[in-house]
Amino acid sequence: MLATKTKTVRRELKSILGENLKEKEVLAPYTSFKIGGEADYFFRAKRIDELTNAVLTARELGIPYFILGKGNNVLVSDEGFRGMVIKNECRKTEVCDTTIACQSGTLLKDLVNSARENSLQGFEFLAGIPGTVGGAVFGNAGAFGKSIGEYTEEAVLLTSSGNIEIVGREYFDFGYRYSKLKKTMDVLLSVSFKLKKGRKESIGKRIEQVWEKRKKSIPYNKKSAGCFFKNVKDKGISAGYLLDQVGAKKMSVGEAKVFSKHANIIINSKNAKAKDVKKLARILKERVKKRFKINLEEEVIYLGKFNQRRLPIDNI
Ligand SMILES: Cc1cc2nc3c(=O)[nH]c(=O)nc-3n(C[C@H](O)[C@H](O)[C@H](O)COP(=O)(O)OP(=O)(O)OC[C@H]3O[C@@H](n4cnc5c(N)ncnc54)[C@H](O)[C@@H]3O)c2cc1C
Repeated sequence: MLATKTKTVRRELKSILGENLKEKEVLAPYTSFKIGGEADYFFRAKRIDELTNAVLTARELGIPYFILGKGNNVLVSDEGFRGMVIKNECRKTEVCDTTIACQSGTLLKDLVNSARENSLQGFEFLAGIPGTVGGAVFGNAGAFGKSIGEYTEEAVLLTSSGNIEIVGREYFDFGYRYSKLKKTMDVLLSVSFKLKKGRKESIGKRIEQVWEKRKKSIPYNKKSAGCFFKNVKDKGISAGYLLDQVGAKKMSVGEAKVFSKHANIIINSKNAKAKDVKKLARILKERVKKRFKINLEEEVIYLGKFNQRRLPIDNI
């Protein structure tokens, strides 16, 4: 009975999404951690109508789905994902006066470049943050005390009820590494940002300075998802500081290691498993909890099934 249902769903999915639909696609190459098993289905959306069609089809057929940008903030389970990963590659951008409007699959580096090319200042802080605009708005990405939400003007969403709606910044309820998209099933289709006129040369210089600063502490040549945990904003303490105090920089599980120059970054040093990263993260959290009575929260999103059983803490 179940097998028949699966076959019907598969046939319908194929007939609607066509030959661009892949099956049993390994997800590791689509993430910055380079970790993760197969997705049952994988669809690359290059146009907004393809993106909405894929989401609505998955909802209609009752298939779990996940919108993937550049995979810089996700840890995919070794068992992969039982559902459809929809990779967002909708990347059109338009600039009008001091507004940049772009589709949600636009790369942040292209957004930063568009701003500079059009002598628009404000987005220099985004230089060096990898990923798409969709992922950045979802988690209100930021650095140096600034975040993308502050510049958001209007957005077009595919809502959880299947409508296309235009919303303003207040809708997102932006906070530290938070937007309302984390609670709803809304999909960000496109968004516009308001910037200020500036001088191209000084914008370019600031971008370079940001890059120089970031390169000193962030391992761009290693496989990671950037900072693993959120800072503890209500206490004004960085997660990196707390982790450093509990000796994180010397810790590892299998081939998942804490980066020696930044205690809040876990790296896949070779062929780490998702379960190793997850276990290392759990140990780090436990140590911080024990010493400081503080619960660290993940900034990284887990995708797929992770064994909830508490594995013995060894090899550290
Ligand atoms: C080396 C490195 C440095 C980093 N530095 C920073 C930093 O300084 N500051 C910072 O904030 N982050 C940083 N990050 C994390 C990451 O770059 C950001 O979170 C980025 O915004 C993720 O974008 P993405 O496209 O890769 O999102 P993904 O990892 O693909 O997805 C992240 C989440 O967003 C959701 N999502 C993606 N697109 C949409 C959409 N269109 N609609 C609805 N939901 C969507 C996904 O479903 C998922 O839940 C860093 C990561 C790395 C690897």
